[in-house]
Amino acid sequence: MNNQEKLLEELKNILLQDKSLPLKNSNLVFGEGSASANIFFIGEAPGLKEDQAGRPFVGRSGQLLTKTLNEIGLQREDVYITNIAKRRPPENRDPSPLEIAKYQPYLQKQIDIIKPKIIVTLGRFALNFFLPKAKITLSQGKTFLVDNKTIMPIFHPAAALRSTKTLKEFKKSFLKLKNLTK
Ligand code: URA
Repeated sequence: MNNQEKLLEELKNILLQDKSLPLKNSNLVFGEGSASANIFFIGEAPGLKEDQAGRPFVGRSGQLLTKTLNEIGLQREDVYITNIAKRRPPENRDPSPLEIAKYQPYLQKQIDIIKPKIIVTLGRFALNFFLPKAKITLSQGKTFLVDNKTIMPIFHPAAALRSTKTLKEFKKSFLKLKNLTK
């Protein structure tokens, strides 16, 4: 285990013991992938499949994410994938502002440890975490510099599964991402 992997493991253990965190009825979905990834994906919160597996993006949205990564020549193991909320909200409701705030330090520490070149936010919750006022439809596929980090908002894969127009934009953004990381 290298140093970054060790630091992530330590962080996960601290999170598991943190009694102040909400959503305790669900399992922890900490995140997975390369501890030195150049690209860091952030979704919203785990769904049922993710809660059961303890892994992010393994349901239908996850299958689309994995397939689209493969299309630009990347494997899941090459990137890091996590969510803002690390446990599933009941009935898949949106994470509340308080839940997001409580898990925020853990997301920030994951970023500090991994030091990715590009942070891809999937959907509006992850986007608004970095750019509170930004609109997903206007900002997706573009890049923004926030605190010296390059942020690239992309539509959430669940939205891409619901609309062919959104799917087209989603795929286009991944091609841009590929060019950015060349
Ligand atoms: N949707 C998300 O935002 N995250 C997951 O891990 C799965 C579905």
